[in-house]
Amino acid sequence: MQPSVLIIGGGLAGLAAATALAPRGFRVRLIESRSRLAGRASSFHDSATGQLVDTCQHVSMGCCTNLAHFSRMIGVSHFLQPQPTLYFMTPDRRVSRFRADPLPAPLHLFRSFAFAHYLTWREKLRVAWGLLKLKSEPVDDDPPFQDWLTKHGQTQRIVNRFWGLVLVSALNESPDRIGLRYAKKVFVDGFLKHRRGFEVEVPTVPLGRLYGEELSRWLSEHQVDVLMQQAGKQLSVTDDRVSELEMRHGDAMTADYYISAVPFDRLLELLPMEVVGRFAYFSNLRNLETSPITGVHCWFDRPGTELPHIVLMDSIGQWVFNRGETSPGEWYLQVVVSAARQFRGLGHEEVERQVVGELRRLLPALADAKLIRARVVTEHAATFSAVPGVDRWRPVQISPIANLFVAGDWTNTSWPATMEGAVRSGYLAAEALLERVGRPEKLVQADLA
Ligand SMILES: Cc1cc2nc3c(=O)[nH]c(=O)nc-3n(C[C@H](O)[C@H](O)[C@H](O)COP(=O)(O)OP(=O)(O)OC[C@H]3O[C@@H](n4cnc5c(N)ncnc54)[C@H](O)[C@@H]3O)c2cc1C
Repeated sequence: MQPSVLIIGGGLAGLAAATALAPRGFRVRLIESRSRLAGRASSFHDSATGQLVDTCQHVSMGCCTNLAHFSRMIGVSHFLQPQPTLYFMTPDRRVSRFRADPLPAPLHLFRSFAFAHYLTWREKLRVAWGLLKLKSEPVDDDPPFQDWLTKHGQTQRIVNRFWGLVLVSALNESPDRIGLRYAKKVFVDGFLKHRRGFEVEVPTVPLGRLYGEELSRWLSEHQVDVLMQQAGKQLSVTDDRVSELEMRHGDAMTADYYISAVPFDRLLELLPMEVVGRFAYFSNLRNLETSPITGVHCWFDRPGTELPHIVLMDSIGQWVFNRGETSPGEWYLQVVVSAARQFRGLGHEEVERQVVGELRRLLPALADAKLIRARVVTEHAATFSAVPGVDRWRPVQISPIANLFVAGDWTNTSWPATMEGAVRSGYLAAEALLERVGRPEKLVQADLA
């Protein structure tokens, strides 16, 4: 009889583990507490129109090789549209275009950077020098990146218009709270290492569709038993082995192996307190911090811009995504505000007022446009914070409980909290399980070559 695996949590981490193990002969059951798969990377039905709306637009980059592999496997790569040009706008509405030239990295972006209107030549030279220094910086200590920026002559204006601009979106944190390790990773993997690393991909469909039909078909064709609206309540642990998972509605489920793929605070709730107290592996999770993201969805009675997206500088939002005319007479723009702590304590109306006001100022076509509808969606614990030294609290996928493996974007993947990190963690958990049953195999995909 093939070994059975119970995966708890149907986000990308749990799904990646399922897609890795099911074709390798494991009997996989996946339980998900909600009525939809893909966890934080999912959509909801807008009550006003019934349309699928993403909780927040998700984008990936060329350097996300495991997410690309996962998308290919389940057959949804065709929904991911590369954005060969990135558009950067300053509050005076001037736009700079960022596009790769057919040159090896890092020269591929040299021309775009040289012509960018939002930094002076002096500032550009400082940035170039900073990037050069950062590339060779050791990351073992992971000191505060802000200190490093100051030490390397990066002024507040340069931080706002270059370093912070990239990092707030990529890491969902403000530069004063970020450690050097992940700041370096973003710039090296995204911009310096490979010419395709920085290529942003935007899904052409809502996330609920992206991780919808094809995914469900793949799981059913590979005999993954998916149980929706089934929440795990407590893992019973005897002699440092999981004996069963007690469910919230009362029954219990058993398997040879268990993979927890829930957020870290949920894992702490699933485990007996005695187990958490006994292993630093688990109790360290209490040190992880999180950061919020707010998505402001706006439907206007006319198009606001021809550009597919805009990266905003010195503004409230960081990205505007132009989803076009989603129903007759309604043009949909979505503004993403990462590390959105400034909204804490504000009502949705006030957030909407600020963000819509900014859109009207930046996009003249919207000055007199009618706002048909808006939705403000905040994920308070959107991602873990990549604060200095965060990796010491991120556990590897092999837990001290013999038959329990752990996945999730917050586990140790050497990636920040991203879809790529989540998929990697699922593959790493599957690798650990394969090793445990004496069938080691490499599943994690290589970086861009
Ligand atoms: C607003 C927002 C914007 C983002 N933007 C981007 C982006 O542009 N690009 C990018 O790469 N990443 C982005 N991310 C991050 C990305 O969404 C996450 O890193 C990734 O989806 C995490 O996947 P996961 O499987 O680790 O966790 P989750 O998606 O949180 O999955 C965990 C699953 O477990 C389920 N669960 C919880 N408790 C139980 C239980 N007791 N029993 C059963 N099931 C349970 C949950 O319902 C959930 O489905 C964003 C995140 C947010 C919130």
